[in-house]
Formats: sequence, C-alpha cells, structure tokens
Amino acid sequence: MECRRLKQLVRDWYHQVMEDALAPARMMEFIKRHIERCPVCQTDQALPNEIEKIRELVRAPAPTDEEEKLA
Ligand SMILES: [Zn+2]
Repeated sequence: MECRRLKQLVRDWYHQVMEDALAPARMMEFIKRHIERCPVCQTDQALPNEIEKIRELVRAPAPTDEEEKLA
C-alpha cells in the first residue's frame, strides 16, 4: 500500500469495524471509493491483493454483480 492517506483511512475504518460501528461491507465500499478518486492508489500494482487481504480480515462478502453496477 503506497498511499499514506488510504493507510490512515483503513486503520480508522478497521477500528470502527472492530467496534461494530461500521459494517465490513461498508468499509470495502469506502476503500473502493477512495481508490476511484486517488491517483496514487490507481497506480499501485500491489493494491488489489492488499484489498483482498483486508476483505478477508474483516470478513466482508465479495462484491456481487449488483454492487458493481451501482458503483
Ligand atoms: Zn489513495
């Protein structure tokens, strides 16, 4: 993860998920939204793998086709 902003955000969101203040699926949505707007994240080749690891960590369901369409 090269983006310092995303690192900070993930840390904050992860904390909220652990406290049940944020749904894991919602966290993954926030991550996706950040990446869509962030040039650093968009050029980070290793990022998709790291995002998958985070997804497993918070046990978020994989995105469905329906969610992809809404994005
Ligand atoms: Zn970023």
